[in-house]
Amino acid sequence: MEGSGEKRQFDARQLDSVNQAVGVSEEMVSNYYKLSDSQVLQLNYDIRTSSRLASHEIVDDHFAQIVRYRARKKESMLETEAEDFYLVCIQDHAILDAIDRFPALRLYPFMLYIVCHELIHVVRFRRFLQHFHVPPEERQIEEIRVHHETRDVLQQSRARDLDAVLTFYGQWREAFEQMDEIHVRRAPPEG
Ligand SMILES: [Zn+2]
Repeated sequence: MEGSGEKRQFDARQLDSVNQAVGVSEEMVSNYYKLSDSQVLQLNYDIRTSSRLASHEIVDDHFAQIVRYRARKKESMLETEAEDFYLVCIQDHAILDAIDRFPALRLYPFMLYIVCHELIHVVRFRRFLQHFHVPPEERQIEEIRVHHETRDVLQQSRARDLDAVLTFYGQWREAFEQMDEIHVRRAPPEG
């Protein structure tokens, strides 16, 4: 229950959908960028839903956020970017609230969008490390690009009700493009 507070979490049936969406998203993103198995491993990330998040990893204003945990080797003062760990923190309560407010949104296709989007961020950080710390204007340009690539990646999917998700994101496009969902933490993740 660490950090979960009283916020809603996915139930077992919803978690099944979420896990399926995660698997399919990983496959689509890796196809899109033509990543080899070892390149996928080098992405060094994990995706967790709220029941496995610490309280500082839970936020209200995003469907997901990425927390980058910086690796620091004990024997040296060098921090190696490549060993940094990206944790994609899925915000169950924010997603469930959105589904309540916008009934056309179905959990599975909505999760496809959310997970593909966050994975694209991870891939792009790994390829262009300088993008992690950028001024807000550049962050917004990057965000627009990632939403665009998310749509491209999702063209591989024939999931039902995906159109409603794309319409939703189109409708709130400007708000989403201004969101800052990327955070850096120094402490290593636990568990
Ligand atoms: Zn984003």
